[in-house]
Amino acid sequence: MDHDSKMSEGRVMRVVIVGGGTVGLCTAVFLARQGVSVHVLERRPKVNDHPRAFGLTDRSAEILREAGIEVDTAQFARGLMSGPSLAELTPVTTKFERPEIGPAKLGSCPQDLVDRAAVALLRELGSRVDFDSEVVAVADDSVTTADGRVVTADYVIAADGVRSRIRELLGIGVTGPGELDGSNVLGGSHMLNVLFRAELPAPPLSMTFLRNERAAGILYRVDEAGRWIFHIRNGDPDTPAEQIQQQIRDATGVADAEPEIISQIPWSSTAQVADVFRRGNFFLVGDAAHAVPPVGGFGLNMGIADGHNLAWKLAAGGDALLDTYEAERRPVALFSMRQSVIRAQNHTLHWNNDPSLAAERAAVGMAGIMIPVVGYRYDSPAVVDPEPLPDLENLVLDGAPGSRLPHLWLPDGRSTVDLVDGFTLLTGTAADHWLDAAREVDITAHAVAGWAEAAHIKEDGAVLVRPDGFVGWRTATTRTDASSERQLRDVLDRILCRQRPGALTQEA
Ligand SMILES: Cc1cc2nc3c(=O)[nH]c(=O)nc-3n(C[C@H](O)[C@H](O)[C@H](O)COP(=O)(O)OP(=O)(O)OC[C@H]3O[C@@H](n4cnc5c(N)ncnc54)[C@H](O)[C@@H]3O)c2cc1C
Repeated sequence: MDHDSKMSEGRVMRVVIVGGGTVGLCTAVFLARQGVSVHVLERRPKVNDHPRAFGLTDRSAEILREAGIEVDTAQFARGLMSGPSLAELTPVTTKFERPEIGPAKLGSCPQDLVDRAAVALLRELGSRVDFDSEVVAVADDSVTTADGRVVTADYVIAADGVRSRIRELLGIGVTGPGELDGSNVLGGSHMLNVLFRAELPAPPLSMTFLRNERAAGILYRVDEAGRWIFHIRNGDPDTPAEQIQQQIRDATGVADAEPEIISQIPWSSTAQVADVFRRGNFFLVGDAAHAVPPVGGFGLNMGIADGHNLAWKLAAGGDALLDTYEAERRPVALFSMRQSVIRAQNHTLHWNNDPSLAAERAAVGMAGIMIPVVGYRYDSPAVVDPEPLPDLENLVLDGAPGSRLPHLWLPDGRSTVDLVDGFTLLTGTAADHWLDAAREVDITAHAVAGWAEAAHIKEDGAVLVRPDGFVGWRTATTRTDASSERQLRDVLDRILCRQRPGALTQEA
């Protein structure tokens, strides 16, 4: 059944999300915000207390902020330290400068805090989150849980992680190197992620590489309540607790520490991308769609952006528009997978963002860190006249169709990023005809001083920003071959992949 016939009864669309990890829960919030009825099915009895990811990029922070998922990334300072013990640490990075992309900032936040905030918000929004609900079978318009419940839906989103059961049930394969060997990933392919509680001297709230002759691993301070995570290189999940406790003492150099082991997750660094991101009414997001080595911190951030990309398309509706989810997100996943592998193989270059190393980065094919974060470009039917990525090293947000909109501070302290509210037209200061047209077609519009320069248009030009903050269309100056309103209706139809009788042709 296609989307239009499904929704023709005028009822609220129902989406089931399989997997209540961070990506599933955030995607649920994005959909609930759009008025979609969401039902999350998670096999665990509660939110996973054991965080894997900490780094939230400025783009992810921006998306969470827009959705109202409130997490304080600022209390967890950035900064990476390295040394033989907690007593002897030096900063890893010599330079970690990033261009400002908007009001939200790069930060660090244990994944479980994002999950808890998302669950609380979903309940407030009236969405259903069922724990103890493992999905074991799928049909065209339903999923079945281990206890025999059949949950029907118009669409199903598989957010069930790297070993996705749904991906397997749908018969979708994966592409990529798979599990990476030990020489290239933080010194080991198999890691044991140990969550523990202890009194340890506090380094900056950040990631700390510890390496001495007795032990090596990566230590995170999870919170101020004494929770820590230690990633043990080549750690064996069957290691007795006493041995792990001793490794923590050895690595940190705190001989009298009494770590209380809370939980352990064995993990291996994997690089793979699903062959398709959509099959019928099913969509893959997050690690179910792509898994990348942790170097670069792209994994979770990519998953959050998947959900954000898919949510507005599901809410807007239409099969052709929904196809653009894969057309836009799969190339980003393939690109980020390659970038993570290159970064895993070139640690020194990864940890040092100094612009003077641009040539060395280029020689190994490493893009600037902001490109996988927010600098990539979409090329799909949901963008009118997309423009290719101009530069692999430097972030260029210049208003080109397919790119995230440029950020410009406004006199009232907001950013152009804050103006996006559904489809939004941002114009120069001599574009009343565009403002009138936007009013006629009932979308938000703003004339912004300085926008013409930022978005490479004239003062009578305009940029149509999609609900996800990406530029869908740009007109540098007023066209005379059609009315502004007609042009605007036409480009909206094109971005939404709708055929409208009498619509202007491609070159309008
Ligand atoms: C050591 C490490 C460090 C990392 N650091 C970063 C970082 O700094 N930044 C970053 O962006 N990424 C990082 N990542 C990657 C990040 O952790 C993952 O990309 C992210 O957790 C994926 O989220 P997800 O919701 O897609 O999948 P998951 O977190 O795996 O969640 C999937 C959920 O689905 C549930 N589930 C599975 N099967 C079923 C079923 N059949 N029915 C119902 N529920 C089911 C599971 O219980 C789980 O809760 C790191 C990963 C590791 C291992």
